[in-house]
Amino acid sequence: MNKITIAIDGFSSTGKSTVAKQLARALGYVYVDTGAMYRAVTFYAMQNGLINKDDFNSEALIYQLPKINITFKFNEALGFAEVYLNDVNIENKVRTLEVSSFVSKVAAVSQVRQKLVEQQQKMCQDKGVVMDGRDIGTVVFPDAELKLFMTASAKTRAERRFLELIERGDKVDYEDVLKNVEERDFLDSNRADSPLLKAKDAIEIDNSHMTLDEQFNKILQLAKMTIEDCE
Ligand code: C5P
Repeated sequence: MNKITIAIDGFSSTGKSTVAKQLARALGYVYVDTGAMYRAVTFYAMQNGLINKDDFNSEALIYQLPKINITFKFNEALGFAEVYLNDVNIENKVRTLEVSSFVSKVAAVSQVRQKLVEQQQKMCQDKGVVMDGRDIGTVVFPDAELKLFMTASAKTRAERRFLELIERGDKVDYEDVLKNVEERDFLDSNRADSPLLKAKDAIEIDNSHMTLDEQFNKILQLAKMTIEDCE
C-alpha cells in the first residue's frame, strides 16, 4: 500500500495533535509534533535568559541555534514520541502556559523556522508521516497528499486547553488561557514568515461541535480515501 504525507494545520488547541496521534496509530505512520519543536527552542531561550516578559534577545538566539539539538524518542507506554532538547527529555516542560506565552515570538524568527523546517522535511523523506503545525501544508510539505485545516471557536479551544493544564496539575486561570490562545492566533496569523494560513487545497474541519470519535472517524475516512486514490 502506498504511503502518503498528511499535513494537519490550524489554530492553537484545535485538537490537531490528538487526532494526528490517533491517525498515525491507526495507519502505522510516524507522528511529528512540530509545535513541540518550536516549544523546545523557546524552552532553550528561557533557560538561557534570552527571553522574558519584557525582552527577547533574538540575535543571541540566532547565534546559539547550532547548539540546539531537538530530537524525538518514542515512548512505548505513552504511545507517542517525546521531545528532547540536547538529549534531555523536556516533554512535560514545554507544555506550560509560560512556554505558550513566549513561543509565538520565537516562532516568528525566520532563522528558527529555517532550521526546524529543514529538519521536518528530512523526517518525512520516506512518507508515512502525519505532521501537525501551522505551516505544514503551505511551507513544509506543499505537495502533501492530504491537508487538513482545523478550526474551532477561541472559547472552545481555551476551555479544552484550560482543562488539559488543570489535569496536568498546573495552576492556571481560564482568562489567562483564553488570552494566550487569542494572542497566539494573532501572532501566528500575522507574522511575516510562514503565517498560519489555510492551504488552498486543504480540507477545513470545524470541530467545535464534534466529539473526538466523530472527528477521528471523519479524518480516518478521508485518509483512507486519499491513500486509495494514490494507489
Ligand atoms: O501546536 P502548538 O500549540 O504546540 O504550537 C506552539 C506554537 O509553535 C504555535 O503557537 C506557533 O507559534 C508555533 N508553531 C509554528 N509552526 C509550526 C508549529 C508551531 O509557528 N509548524
